[in-house]
Amino acid sequence: MNKQKYDKNYAVIVVDKDFNIASTNYKAVEEYGDIVGKKCYRVFNDYEKPCDEISPYVCPIRVLQNTSLKKFTSVYAFNRKRGNYVYLTVKKEGEHFVQEHINLNGNKLDILDVNSILKNLYEGIVIIDSNSRKIKMINKKFISIFNIKADEEYFLEKDVKEIQKYLPQSISNIFDRKEFLSGEEFVVHYKGKYLIIKVININGNYKLWSFIEKEEIDLGDEIFRILLETTQVGIFLQCGGRFMYANPTLSSMLETMPGELIGAKIDKYIYSKDRKKILKIAKKRESNKNSVEKHTLRITTGTGKMKWIEVTSKPISFKGKDCSIGSVIDITDRKELEENLRKLATIDQLTGIYNRYAFEKFFEKEINRAERYKTKFSIIMFDIDNFKNINDIYGHQIGDRVLKEIVKVVKKNIRKSDIFARWGGEEFMILVPIKNRTDAYKIAEKIRKKIEKHRFDGIKNITISIGVAFYKEGDSIKTVIRRADTALYQAKKSGKNVTVVSY
Ligand code: GH3
Ligand code: MG
Ligand code: MG
Repeated sequence: MNKQKYDKNYAVIVVDKDFNIASTNYKAVEEYGDIVGKKCYRVFNDYEKPCDEISPYVCPIRVLQNTSLKKFTSVYAFNRKRGNYVYLTVKKEGEHFVQEHINLNGNKLDILDVNSILKNLYEGIVIIDSNSRKIKMINKKFISIFNIKADEEYFLEKDVKEIQKYLPQSISNIFDRKEFLSGEEFVVHYKGKYLIIKVININGNYKLWSFIEKEEIDLGDEIFRILLETTQVGIFLQCGGRFMYANPTLSSMLETMPGELIGAKIDKYIYSKDRKKILKIAKKRESNKNSVEKHTLRITTGTGKMKWIEVTSKPISFKGKDCSIGSVIDITDRKELEENLRKLATIDQLTGIYNRYAFEKFFEKEINRAERYKTKFSIIMFDIDNFKNINDIYGHQIGDRVLKEIVKVVKKNIRKSDIFARWGGEEFMILVPIKNRTDAYKIAEKIRKKIEKHRFDGIKNITISIGVAFYKEGDSIKTVIRRADTALYQAKKSGKNVTVVSY
């Protein structure tokens, strides 16, 4: 190499047609070490093959080999390990390709210096001042990608809103988002093509957005693309806890704007109580990398709604990173149906307390426990006095309201742990862990008096009659209830609005 010619303050690297590094200047040695003889894609990208075979990017050397171009310019993410962004020029010199790497993160480089270079780039470029939000530069390719009916000069020094007007929502959103790190890349589907969007910080003051058009990328071919865009199943690709790709179905499932998910942290959409579960799953994953796993969890959508989903995912390596790809189905309806069925089987629809079936189940359990631990309990059974009259005078609807109100009053006067159920029509049962007659009588009387004193809207006073019975060794559900029923019958016979405790 002619050392003098390449004595620049940026790296110069000469590569042969087989991607072997033939020679470098001193600055390149300083930056990359002794790299002569190595494959350039391995050194700069940590790839096993030339970048166009393994990533969505064009390979400058291939472009120069296959076209009559003499020079290729691009902004590239070289040396991913160091997160180093360079402005790259590759020139054809005889059989060799001379690369110039100018560091974009360096302080020396002024935005004006790169302007002339970026103007004619293959990729669409917009540079925005991070503080003033003014557009500092926009190139021809950007205008053509989005088919904008204005020329580049029109946008200079205008607010970023000015370009946003011309962009589809999925893309205009990204300029408002602050969470992107320098060097992050995203894939957005736009008008039958893929756009690879990348953001790079320049000198700390500017953000450079680059848009590379690709007919097809690693995500797959046309058939695969159509499937992704039309399936009713949510599909995602995630790397490092962020969405790299999300199909439209997933976006609508999460109630987000098109494009909003790209680059977004997944954690934000996991229902707070399920986040720990996800961490555990991720940890377990590390030890079993090839497994396909299915999990049911809850999410919080962009509008704050809770939904149940079923996720199936598999770890993959994407562009050299540990990522995972998966599908999501919304199972909220199924979960709600299950919940409703469960409630229907145990809850009385009018009053919201347990129904007869549920009460019998609890009763059974309580008897088993009483037998095993020699414990005692009692049941309080009550029936509304002259309820037929209420229906006759005020109508069935008012009758229903009275039933609900009585339940409210009773609930307030018993413990949460007591089992309160609607036994039938206007008959109710309470299972309480009370062992002696005096206490049982006291609690029954308290309830009876509360109802007696309660003012029901527009209705004369309502009273109840109560029968109390105790569990005794050898009892079955039937025998205990029969005693409570007899006590209740005696209460009615002795003039109603009284409590009778069974012998
Ligand atoms: P008693 O003091 O002897 O209990 O007199 P009663 O009028 O309450 O007599 P009974 O227990 O025989 O009648 C119960 C009535 O309760 C009959 C029925 O119309 C009414 N009823 C039962 N279930 C419902 C309900 O779900 N809604 C309404 N509104 N009324 C009901
Ligand atoms: Mg009755
Ligand atoms: Mg009655």
